[in-house]
Amino acid sequence: MKIKKEIDLEQLVRPNVLQMQAYSSARSEFTGRADVFLDANENPYETGLNRYPDPLQKALKNKIASIKGVDPQQIFLGNGSDEAIDLLIRIFCRPGQDHILTLPPTYGMYKVSAALSAVAIKTVPLQSNFQLDVAQILAKANQQSKLLFICSPNNPTGNSIERQAITTLLKNFQGIVVIDEAYIDFSGQTSCTELLAQYNNLVVLQTFSKAWGLAGIRLGMAFANGAIIQLFNKTKPPYNINTLSQQAALKALENHTEIQKQLGETCQERERLSIALKKMPFIQMIYPSDANFLLVKMTQPKIVYRYLLEQKIIVRDRSKVLLCEGCLRFTVGTPKENQQLIQSLQ
Ligand SMILES: *Cc1c(COP(=O)(O)O)cnc(C)c1O
Repeated sequence: MKIKKEIDLEQLVRPNVLQMQAYSSARSEFTGRADVFLDANENPYETGLNRYPDPLQKALKNKIASIKGVDPQQIFLGNGSDEAIDLLIRIFCRPGQDHILTLPPTYGMYKVSAALSAVAIKTVPLQSNFQLDVAQILAKANQQSKLLFICSPNNPTGNSIERQAITTLLKNFQGIVVIDEAYIDFSGQTSCTELLAQYNNLVVLQTFSKAWGLAGIRLGMAFANGAIIQLFNKTKPPYNINTLSQQAALKALENHTEIQKQLGETCQERERLSIALKKMPFIQMIYPSDANFLLVKMTQPKIVYRYLLEQKIIVRDRSKVLLCEGCLRFTVGTPKENQQLIQSLQ
């Protein structure tokens, strides 16, 4: 594939990050084979967990690479995607000078991570159909706009972002375009990882927290060209992914077919839930969803929210969020859980 866009990464990276040396851990300095490990001050008595984990998670990355159709050198693994978001901000944005661009209503962590790093945020709201206002985004961007966060399928609206808008921004935005694909497995869309060969300013985020059923192990993936991955590797805590998480993820990847079955069921349940909700008189709108949740507009969201709480059902109140006025967000549960929700609302 022909490269359509190559930006000068060195000019985009924070100068201190460009210049710094990574921490060199015992296990990253030694990569050969040995029988006796006296290099890392570990407890020598074997428990399966007495050794430090592989700092670059090679076995896990090889497995992910084969499933996702990318090169292992194009993968960074984080303590949740939230770690990747935080590192991206710290790698590219100078505190008090640079800013990120976000497109509300969207995932809340971009803003929180930016605030923690004293990095400003500029926003360009989605249009009323929840698609991007590309002209406005490009008009607002300047030299200090280092990162543009696009969530697709978007949380909390549930829709996928049109590919044409994404490629236009990849071509014309002079910073890094981050596509957060936390919900991609629930959509019929192909991943933007297929664009990695064409754009060196693309970062794609995915996670083990949603479709893979492993929110508890805190494991997120970032896919990007090798130069960006090297920046992640030098700025991350050396052993950011623990041994238990690496093992659990490998096991899940080997049980691929079980996950596929659950995905099918969740998508069917999403439709069933949507049809049942549509018949209820107080429901005004059910937005089409490519994710494992439904954004539902109703006449009195606060009252419904509190009523459901009394029924011991907790949903997400999004009624005060821009463009989501009057909306609650329902995660699709098991058939039994969804039935409980439907019955309570009826
Ligand atoms: C749930 C979610 C994530 C996942 O974050 P983790 O830290 O990997 O659990 C990322 N992005 C969006 C938009 C989400 O909704």
